[in-house]
Amino acid sequence: MKAAVFTAPNMIAYQENYPDPKPGDGFLLRIRASGICGTDIKALAGNRPGMQPPMILGHEMAGEVIDSAMPEFQTGERVSVAPYAGCGICKFCLEEREDQCKHKTFPSDGAFAEKVSVPKLLAQKTAWKIPASISFEEASMAEPLACVVFSMKSCRWEPGWSILVVGAGFMGMLHVLLASAWGASKILVSEPNPVRRALAQQLGAITHDPAADGDIAKWAAAQTNGSGPHVVITAIAIPEVVESVIDAARPGGVVHLFGGLPKDKTISVPSYAIHYKSISLVGTSGFRTRDYMLAADMIANGTIDLKPLISNRFPLANAQQGFEMAKSGEAMKVLLLNE
Ligand SMILES: [Zn+2]
Ligand SMILES: [Zn+2]
Repeated sequence: MKAAVFTAPNMIAYQENYPDPKPGDGFLLRIRASGICGTDIKALAGNRPGMQPPMILGHEMAGEVIDSAMPEFQTGERVSVAPYAGCGICKFCLEEREDQCKHKTFPSDGAFAEKVSVPKLLAQKTAWKIPASISFEEASMAEPLACVVFSMKSCRWEPGWSILVVGAGFMGMLHVLLASAWGASKILVSEPNPVRRALAQQLGAITHDPAADGDIAKWAAAQTNGSGPHVVITAIAIPEVVESVIDAARPGGVVHLFGGLPKDKTISVPSYAIHYKSISLVGTSGFRTRDYMLAADMIANGTIDLKPLISNRFPLANAQQGFEMAKSGEAMKVLLLNE
């Protein structure tokens, strides 16, 4: 099969004769659309110990079933599937924390390829049929949306709340869309890039330019009758900026550290904000199956429209270019497509 193989740090080699995945107890998926994610970019730089070359990257996918051992999934059906599912029987799974499961089931390989083999357990738990009205491109974004569903749920989100999203990259923007779908009374976004600010405004946010509009926390307070937003999402990886917005949440509010900081980085937290203002500091990465299924339903039913977030499309053969674009900071979501 054709595959875009991660062969060495910062190198993607397009290969036409990569070994086909073996059909197992689930089905083979012919991938039609796959998204490049921040995790893939970190892995390509060689910064992920568990993801070393040679391997195929990519975990956001949608395509067609081409060979199935499962009667529920027939050849030709349009399907999207999550990149993992919890084992279901470990203590973390039983505590509904599949994101922490150490025995996850994965597809045979990464999604930047023509085909991938989906094991039965993963298919049973997460595969969903894409309605005719929804494109492969939209369906491939169920995984990042699932991560944002988990993020917002861990903030104990309620309709009518206000939210400040710091950093309007793709994941920040997904928080904007989900907050809007879930009844936010006010959506605030702080973002230095004017193109991204303009898109955030289009999606219903009031925006803050850190270079011109001063302190984020003061601005957010002024936008919320002096109280501060109920939820603050840090969708960036700059420790100083994270520190500067912990006190931006209203008393009793929640600050979510969504953007992953390097392991060796520490941040300092104003203890009075936790104690006297009763602000909760939370964090998640990844998703649980229930978050993934909710994200899939929202996409399938048209409850959330992710199309405005697709900025670039490249054929799989030009995956290297796709990565360059994704790294440039100019892109929102870059998709790799198979005909
Ligand atoms: Zn992702
Ligand atoms: Zn488990």
